[in-house]
Amino acid sequence: MHLVLVAVAKNLKIVAERNRLKMDNLIGKRFGKLIVLEKTNKKYQYNNYYLCKCDCGNLKIVLDKLLKSGHTKSCGCLHKEIASKSGKKSIKNNSKNRIEIDKRYNTNFGVITTDKPPKNNKSGIKGVWYNPKRDKWEAHIGINNKRINLGRYNSKEEAIKIRKNAEKEYYEPLIKKMETETIVSPDHNGR
Ligand SMILES: [Zn+2]
Repeated sequence: MHLVLVAVAKNLKIVAERNRLKMDNLIGKRFGKLIVLEKTNKKYQYNNYYLCKCDCGNLKIVLDKLLKSGHTKSCGCLHKEIASKSGKKSIKNNSKNRIEIDKRYNTNFGVITTDKPPKNNKSGIKGVWYNPKRDKWEAHIGINNKRINLGRYNSKEEAIKIRKNAEKEYYEPLIKKMETETIVSPDHNGR
């Protein structure tokens, strides 16, 4: 009887040791941008939290399950990187976010980032139109929901040139500012 108990206990010990080794096999392994440094005492159900170092230098504690499944691949910087790369796209796709950004900058970014003229535009170029009364081409630009006159010109080309210069002067810095300030926050998993 005693021998059986010893044998069972030994077996359990071996199984536990094997499991421990299996878990500790994560140490030194790479998951995306993360390298596993050590196991922590923190647990969640049957899973362990591991201390990882991200390529960017940040440390992050991640549940082994999330590392193995490929769910967590960085300290969160990867998500930020992707978000800023696709910043324009995600702003376009996320209408609530877009409205909030437009409001903050008092600018319709959907309008200023497109070359497509509005339907009632006959010149084919945004902000340029022919005034038949004066027989001149007129240019204007909208900034912060205000319309600025850019003058009247004899030729359409001149008016287009003035309008394009104004876009560079007024829109480009505004778009750059918005893009650098608007970083989509990572989700709660810190992916
Ligand atoms: Zn990182």
